[in-house]
Amino acid sequence: MARYTGPVCRLCRRERTKLYLKGERCFSMKCPMAENSDRQTRAFPPGMHGASRQRQGSEYLTQLREKQKARRIYGLLEKQFRNLYEEANRRPGMTGTNLLQFLELRLDNVAYRAGWGASRAQARQFVLHGHVTINGKRVTIPSYRVRPGEVVALKSVTRENFNVVRNLDVLDRNVPGWLEKGDGGFSITVRTVPQREQINEGIKEQLIVELYSK
Ligand code: SF4
Repeated sequence: MARYTGPVCRLCRRERTKLYLKGERCFSMKCPMAENSDRQTRAFPPGMHGASRQRQGSEYLTQLREKQKARRIYGLLEKQFRNLYEEANRRPGMTGTNLLQFLELRLDNVAYRAGWGASRAQARQFVLHGHVTINGKRVTIPSYRVRPGEVVALKSVTRENFNVVRNLDVLDRNVPGWLEKGDGGFSITVRTVPQREQINEGIKEQLIVELYSK
């Protein structure tokens, strides 16, 4: 599946917020969005006129930026994101909440929540390279939607991988309440579908619904 391969800090600058796409670096002074960055702070949109051009506060722009932010946080391209929205819209319940739940239930996101990957991109790579199993069977599809009761685990050989050990040690990420750590952090059980209040990415899903409903 296609994915964005360009510079990711640029995406944060475009959204004028930290999207945490680079793992450890996002928490360091090397982040161009950090307030006291040891590099030249570049917390303005990319491009030749990024620093000088004022953002126009139209309703459409606000909705568009919110959708782009959500899409970029989870690393989806427009088509995938739109398809997910259409599915969320067909399901009973609140479309925005359904959408966020679908995003959270992606296998690459669960691997990220588990703390195995420093970023969702790294977690996705672990999935793609066959390091992740579900109920003992290898699954290499990052968009696989996990279900309550399923056990997501790292293959035994991968548990000694330097990056995984380091991430678990350094990041020490707390798993949300809808997931349960096991096996010393190397396996995760999906307890339930996440509730809206358990998804803390700062996304205003209503704006996305308004954008796609036009
Ligand atoms: Fe965004 Fe991380 Fe780059 Fe900072 S270091 S701009 S948070 S991707």
